[in-house]
Amino acid sequence: MRRPLIAGNWKMNGSLALVERFAQAFTTAELPAEVDIAFMLPAPYLPAAQRSFAGLPVSLGAQTLHPEPKGAYTGEISGAMLKEFGVHYVLVGHSERRSLFHEDDTAVLARVRAALQAGLEPVLCLGETLEEREAGSTEAVVSKQLAAVFDGLDESERRRLTVAYEPVWAIGTGKTAAPDQAQEVHLALRQRLAQYDTTLGETARLLYGGSMNKDNAAALLAQPDIDGGLIGGASLQVGDFLAICQSA
Ligand code: PEP
Repeated sequence: MRRPLIAGNWKMNGSLALVERFAQAFTTAELPAEVDIAFMLPAPYLPAAQRSFAGLPVSLGAQTLHPEPKGAYTGEISGAMLKEFGVHYVLVGHSERRSLFHEDDTAVLARVRAALQAGLEPVLCLGETLEEREAGSTEAVVSKQLAAVFDGLDESERRRLTVAYEPVWAIGTGKTAAPDQAQEVHLALRQRLAQYDTTLGETARLLYGGSMNKDNAAALLAQPDIDGGLIGGASLQVGDFLAICQSA
């Protein structure tokens, strides 16, 4: 019922040559028809990716957007600009944006609203730090991050989000959450979403992110409440990313 999504987050990595390598490989590869695949690219690569991925069953994504639709915000990019380059998804609330660029829950909600306004699908990222996990507050932390956004949306807006649970201690560290550990949080998030409406609890797409790779993907993706993955490091390797897509 829920379509899996495998999304590669290149962060500030890659090159035009890598865009072309992926386009060539994905043209000849066998891609699973029942899985959505997305590339969250650095903004300068979007025009080339739009051309090179044309006709392939993959979507484009961006890694952030500004909350305002236009104006004197030097260096920033609006949702409408992303739409012009065929972008479908945009990451919001990634832990690197929260910690390095000081985007708090209010800033995250503003960006989710801007994304929806522009007709983009926000992928809301949330997750606990190691200290929060060790203090036993994982569920409280992720529920608060979830509510900070979902409380500010109406029923139809809530249905347009994908949520990515990304424990901060697992991002880029090589330490993956064990499948049952990740499943436990996904179930808690789904139950929290069901409090808004039961259909949302059943239909919301929940991704796992945090050192997912070709060797651990299948076990994580086999969990009943994990509907896909947000992949950083492993999404830069053509063969690895393809293998993850094929294991979904
Ligand atoms: C990410 O950046 O969202 C991520 C999950 O990174 P990695 O897969 O490298 O941990």
